[in-house]
Amino acid sequence: MSMDETRGTFAQAVERIMSHYDTKRWWPHESRFEIVVGAILVQRTRWENVEKVIEAMRSRGVLTPSAISTLDVLELERMVRPTGFFRQKSRRIQRLAHHIHLYHKGDVTCFLKRPYQELASDLERMDGIGPETRDAILLYAAGHPVMIADTYAIRLCDRLGLLDPVTPHAIKNHLMQHLPTTPQTCRRAHAAIVEHCKKRCCAVPRCSGCPLLDMCEHGATK
Ligand code: SF4
Repeated sequence: MSMDETRGTFAQAVERIMSHYDTKRWWPHESRFEIVVGAILVQRTRWENVEKVIEAMRSRGVLTPSAISTLDVLELERMVRPTGFFRQKSRRIQRLAHHIHLYHKGDVTCFLKRPYQELASDLERMDGIGPETRDAILLYAAGHPVMIADTYAIRLCDRLGLLDPVTPHAIKNHLMQHLPTTPQTCRRAHAAIVEHCKKRCCAVPRCSGCPLLDMCEHGATK
């Protein structure tokens, strides 16, 4: 529900920052499996830490389901360590790799190129794949049009005061209803929200000069 129509809607705010930030190089990757692994590695850490680990895994040639599923878990943990929670993340990555290896003959495309609901249900059954990770895999690796309501989206939405309630479900529904439902738009919307929250709407927001200042409830109190 829109709370103050004179200030616009949350979707309009997202559209505005989509044209404000350059997100063309968002989530660079060399394979779909790399995106799947990155979606797990990025849980509760910064993307910069993920990049280092992905690079190390790439140079070791282990970024395939068959390589990961046969890798010694201690070796995997050593590689994953810079992203934190390395034991849990190693187990999650290895279980997912086993799954692809066992049920899809190690073919990542075969695992990902399935109808939305079938893939989403499969991911939901896996240990350590919550809604954010599931949606990141569905959108970035499988190419399904899904809006991602992560902690950045919740923070921005809460501060703007343009949507009630501020829940992941409400944010996703609102954006899916008011923005074009293409994978490109979903990616650009997610990337713009993350960029905006890292550069400006961070823990202590830098409201002066913010492109959303005239729409923002929190910014108006500054
Ligand atoms: S005005 Fe401040 S609180 Fe509002 S979106 Fe911009 S940085 Fe965030």
